[in-house]
Amino acid sequence: MSKRILHAEQEESVATLLKTLVVARGHEIEQTPTGTVAVEKLIGQEYDLIVVGDELDDIDGIGLITKLRQINSQVPIVLISKVWRDARIYQQLVKELQVALVIHRPIKAGLFGAQLESIFDSQAAFSLGELGPEEATLRTLQANYLRVLPERVFKLKEAIAISRTNPAVGSHLIEAIRLAHNLKGTATSCGFGILGESAGSLEKALVAIKEGDLGHYDVAWEEIDLIMKLVTTNAHAIAENPSSKVDKRAFATLENPDERVLSMAPEAEGAEPLPEDNFDTFDMSSSVRVLVVSKEAPASFRKIRDDSKMQAVQVICCQEKEDAVAIAQKLSLDAVLIDIDTAQPGPSLNLARELRSLPNYDSLPVAFLSTSKQQKYIEDSTHAGASLMLEMPFAPNILDDAIDYLVNARQGGRPRILVMDDDQDFSETVAATLGQEGMLVRCINEPGDIMETLHDYHPDLVLLNITMPLVSGYDICRMIRQDAHYRDLPILFLTSQTGLETRLAAFEAGGDDYLPKPVARVELLTRVKVRLERARLLKERSNKDVLTGLLIRRAFMEELQDMAEESRRNELIFSLALIDVDHFKKINDTYGHMAGDKVLAQVGQLLRKRFRVEDVRGRWGGEEFIVAFRHIQKDTARGALQRALEELRSQTFTGDHGENFGITFSAGLVSYPDDGRELDTLIKIADHRLYRAKEQGRNCLVCVDT
Ligand code: GH3
Ligand code: MG
Ligand code: MG
Repeated sequence: MSKRILHAEQEESVATLLKTLVVARGHEIEQTPTGTVAVEKLIGQEYDLIVVGDELDDIDGIGLITKLRQINSQVPIVLISKVWRDARIYQQLVKELQVALVIHRPIKAGLFGAQLESIFDSQAAFSLGELGPEEATLRTLQANYLRVLPERVFKLKEAIAISRTNPAVGSHLIEAIRLAHNLKGTATSCGFGILGESAGSLEKALVAIKEGDLGHYDVAWEEIDLIMKLVTTNAHAIAENPSSKVDKRAFATLENPDERVLSMAPEAEGAEPLPEDNFDTFDMSSSVRVLVVSKEAPASFRKIRDDSKMQAVQVICCQEKEDAVAIAQKLSLDAVLIDIDTAQPGPSLNLARELRSLPNYDSLPVAFLSTSKQQKYIEDSTHAGASLMLEMPFAPNILDDAIDYLVNARQGGRPRILVMDDDQDFSETVAATLGQEGMLVRCINEPGDIMETLHDYHPDLVLLNITMPLVSGYDICRMIRQDAHYRDLPILFLTSQTGLETRLAAFEAGGDDYLPKPVARVELLTRVKVRLERARLLKERSNKDVLTGLLIRRAFMEELQDMAEESRRNELIFSLALIDVDHFKKINDTYGHMAGDKVLAQVGQLLRKRFRVEDVRGRWGGEEFIVAFRHIQKDTARGALQRALEELRSQTFTGDHGENFGITFSAGLVSYPDDGRELDTLIKIADHRLYRAKEQGRNCLVCVDT
């Protein structure tokens, strides 16, 4: 449904960007550069959201928000901030001024879209169930936890009974202590303070037994029995108290947030709501959103989820190309699967190109679906950006794997968080909280999986528990830091020990920050966002070339080394192209340096939009570009590259004095392992072939030694 947004912003560029993003999603926006007009507007009219910039012509952002809150205490407000403030100010903004979100510039359009929809979704829950957005989240967490609570209590009771009957086996007692400790932490984090407290007393009494710190052994166990009874009673009381149960109606919109899309395309089929008793039902905003454009929309597309327990995959189906574009503009998509008619592939290829040309979709993962595998179109589909060709019909697990592959192939999509905690309930609570902010979360409970998961999942941030049964979080952190790849990966520790020593040890082990358990939601979100944003800025500043938006040479080489390593390990292939603009010096001399810059920027843009998300593109130097085609043989890469160079050749550029001109390219192409097994050798050969292309009169592609 279309929403009304009021936007107070002094800077024209931000105003234009926001307007584009909001209008593309089908919402209305009214903009003003002054606080006075914003206040007047809010007095006279109703809005679904207010967005406020840091500085306005007549007042600063926080001052304006204070005024707006006096007029309307309910409307969600977003602050767009230029600067990073300290955590205390964020808490004040969220708690006192009820700011729904602080977004930092530069605005990341895809994430912004997801966040916007998430605010509207929580507002819908708010109005339906009369719960505040904060409370709605808490209720979600509580409902999830209540389902597993009886089992947790039962396990704890069992562990205590075993420890008592087997006093000689210390590990039973340690396990009971761990379970009591986890119950304390998670119950408190979910707002069940009394249960948390009683579990805490139980933990203490068990520790006393372990340390032999008691007078009468039997009396101590009797006391433990009593406390355990208290824990059980508290758990029952929570389960039975209707006020702590979730009103399902309150989450109706969260369960099927795409109703608006489905009603727009009447024949389309949407993801069915997941079963009521499903643990994942609530975590819709963290889900991966996949669009299927198919005349058939088979039932197997529905109800698919990826391997992580917390992340349901939302599948939206539509039949027409126009609907697909409209949906992509309205919702932020993580991948698209397009039915391709192999007898007439043109429309599907065009749709893929069109989707990848939409603002913020240049790294959208694409797959084609067809009833027969047609090698014939592989060059076209690689050029149009299709990572996969799936043959129909297929088993559901194939689709699962495909979606996983597509979403993982995307670089710089939604932030990925890895949570490692032996307490599954706690990590899922954290996952739900972060998921509601549009982040992708994966939880692991076994330390043994960590390096492999880092390698496969490529998280942007790790949350690490300190006290775990087998190995401490400190050691895991040290282990991660030993790998040069993860030197700059933000790592945050979570722990219920809050002493100075623990904090110092956390930093000594290489952690970036420290979060005390039980974790307050606001604090968790604030610290995670601050770390993510800092890491992103740092990475972008140091890895991306400003003019072309492509990777700089060093960052490209890092990615290429990963690709080569992967290919070596799995006996896969890849191809590599060096591309050079012909007579670029003359272009600068004739049409001006600015026109030259524009050419480079446009080439960068096209290289980003074309080819698949898993291909790596870089600016090799001045007017030289480099592209690595993952798992692709030379012939396919040549076909895809030729199509892209053809497109560039047919473009018209404008000189500094308005004159029109065109450009041509020369390129050298090599492939691994046919042309060489070492990167140095491959690049040298590609360079040599590029040189040969120049010698042969330019405007051509050389793929073999001549
Ligand atoms: P060839 O066809 O042999 O490649 O000739 P060329 O003129 O393209 O090659 P040459 O290496 O002689 O010149 C490259 C020119 O690119 C020289 C340099 O001034 C220009 N250049 C390098 N970086 C930039 C840039 O960022 N912006 C602009 N406008 N020009 C650049
Ligand atoms: Mg050159
Ligand atoms: Mg050149």
